[in-house]
Amino acid sequence: MIIANWKMNGTKQSVATWIESVSNNMNKKNMNPCIFCPPTCYLEYARSLIDENDYHIEIGSQIVNHSFEDESLTGGISSTMLKDLRIEYVLVGHSEQRNFLKESNNVITKKIEKALEDQLSVIYCIGEDIDTKNKNETYLFLSEQLDLLGQLQSTHEDKLSSIIFAYEPIWAIGSGLNAEKDYIEEMHEFIKKYINDDLGWGHLDIYPAVLYGGSVNLDNCEEIISSTDVDGLLIGGASLNSETFSKIYNLS
Ligand code: PEP
Repeated sequence: MIIANWKMNGTKQSVATWIESVSNNMNKKNMNPCIFCPPTCYLEYARSLIDENDYHIEIGSQIVNHSFEDESLTGGISSTMLKDLRIEYVLVGHSEQRNFLKESNNVITKKIEKALEDQLSVIYCIGEDIDTKNKNETYLFLSEQLDLLGQLQSTHEDKLSSIIFAYEPIWAIGSGLNAEKDYIEEMHEFIKKYINDDLGWGHLDIYPAVLYGGSVNLDNCEEIISSTDVDGLLIGGASLNSETFSKIYNLS
């Protein structure tokens, strides 16, 4: 799975150009899902372009709010609305939202619950900041982020297979400094083992994909995607250019 996260970039025109270009340049024999996450205001436009042209691109929302429809939240986007637009995926827990929007664990859990109930696939983003890394506390940090999902096990067990994980060390996001292959492999192994043994998903026969994100580009993508336990990529900056993104997709 290769995801393009456009963050707060783009125009209607660039969305159209990107979708057409990626679709024309992507190797159709590559069965890896290709997921486009444009800004919310372009979701419906992207949906209609992809549907009209039968492109093999799926759509993810960068945002969802946890409020239920009968609650009042000015500016909110609910998972029911995303489902109505036939959006397939949603990013939850991205570090930029945790930091800028002061998203709490409780809010993140509610978002995931509601998105799963609305049949969206959730891309749950986790990852440590540089202080945590320097203090050698990354395992503890990641395990606390993963423990949130323990709460869903009794209520949403049948939907857990719709959760995909993205390991994104915060210090690597947008910095141009990707994590080294050895480090990525160590963290992905830890995450998979924790989900399997500590959260107990192994007993449920659920083995979720774990993607890597953080300064992926054309030069490092092959090494990262070939790393053990890396099941895909979440790409920010380098996804904006359709040719670069298509090349990364084709190399994966
Ligand atoms: C991201 O936005 O999740 C991301 C990984 O960004 P970048 O690829 O620019 O580091």
